[in-house]
Amino acid sequence: MVNSGILNGMSAKEAIPFITDWLVERGLGRRKVNYKLRDWVFSRQRYWGEPIPLVNCEACGWVALPESELPLVLPELLEFIPGDDGSSPLERAKDWVNTTCPKCGRKAKRETDTMPQWAGSSWYFLRYVDPHNNEALASKEALEYWTPVDWYNGGMEHTTLHLLYSRFWHKFLYDIGVVPTPEPYQKRTSHGMILGENGEKMSKSRGNVINPDDIVNELGADTFRLYEMFMGAFDQPIPWSETGARGCRRFLERVYRLLEMVKPSLEGETSDMRPKLHGCIKKVTEDYERMKFNTAIAAMMTLVNEFYQKGEVSSYELHMLLTLLSPVAPHIAEELNESLGYAALYKTPWPGYDEAALIEDSIEMAIQINGKLRGRMVIETSASKEAIEEAALNNADIAKFLGAKTVKKIIVARNLVNIVAL
Ligand SMILES: [Zn+2]
Repeated sequence: MVNSGILNGMSAKEAIPFITDWLVERGLGRRKVNYKLRDWVFSRQRYWGEPIPLVNCEACGWVALPESELPLVLPELLEFIPGDDGSSPLERAKDWVNTTCPKCGRKAKRETDTMPQWAGSSWYFLRYVDPHNNEALASKEALEYWTPVDWYNGGMEHTTLHLLYSRFWHKFLYDIGVVPTPEPYQKRTSHGMILGENGEKMSKSRGNVINPDDIVNELGADTFRLYEMFMGAFDQPIPWSETGARGCRRFLERVYRLLEMVKPSLEGETSDMRPKLHGCIKKVTEDYERMKFNTAIAAMMTLVNEFYQKGEVSSYELHMLLTLLSPVAPHIAEELNESLGYAALYKTPWPGYDEAALIEDSIEMAIQINGKLRGRMVIETSASKEAIEEAALNNADIAKFLGAKTVKKIIVARNLVNIVAL
């Protein structure tokens, strides 16, 4: 700040609280938050909107319709464009416009402007809790049971006006005792926008629009859903990729073929898969909660690779994979799960995991001779240094390479054994 008396030398950030305190101390002002809510034109000259329940009476002026005449319903029209003078299309519905005053019974005209979409979008979620109630917006019991909304996800374009207006609406309804909570929702997130393959916003004029129906018809609804969750971070804008979508389709086909790899003699969790399975349950559970759907799906892809590497899977292990997969590919997951003979996944509780199972019982170690990789072995993690040395020396590949050489020294590192031999 310069040329500002007592504020000289301060940054704006320092000066604002300083001068506010200064004004408060001298009784010249007080702190107040001003929202950027300006006067709001709440009427439109178009057909599709809630009609405004007011009539203009020759004698009384503007009169509100009594509750018994609500809701006021739009008249049926054949032509929806505004008049040449910019008047609302409702002006044309003479039988509807010309009415009588609810107060004095004289001639009156209905308001022909309609409300903007905000009239509905600011509180629609309250109606979801009790959609057939003809007496009230929603019953007190239903509102108390369901609201406030636990988690509200929407597009980025809603983060300013819609959130501001719907909170404003809600606070008004709270003040008049219609809703039980002062805030409409407890948590809010926004998803990123899916861009065209060229990285630009999808639009007809750019010719880069991906039609979801085409994707569903060609690759299936599960692939479409899975790919949307897999394509990138949930809250970031991501370009569509046909290759990526096809990759997701191939993944689901791999999952489908696991059915042929189910070995009836394997029961429950097999010991070698147990750490991998529980690791996957933990990862997917935590990632879903944090809306990291892409990394959750990547973890399931890794587990599927493990099943393929082993060449067989137990019915229960596949059932667990399908349980984890069902939120992002519900149809295929339910179908495969049903053919395994388990109860419907949508009724199945989310699986827990055993922390102790996450620790692998055995590890793979590389074996080197004089610094060159000559073999690998799998050994129990609890094995002693001596046991590891012995197992390395007895390894068939290593024995072949060692031949008549004399072992001088064996170095055991975390997942590596190096044999120094001459
Ligand atoms: Zn009147």
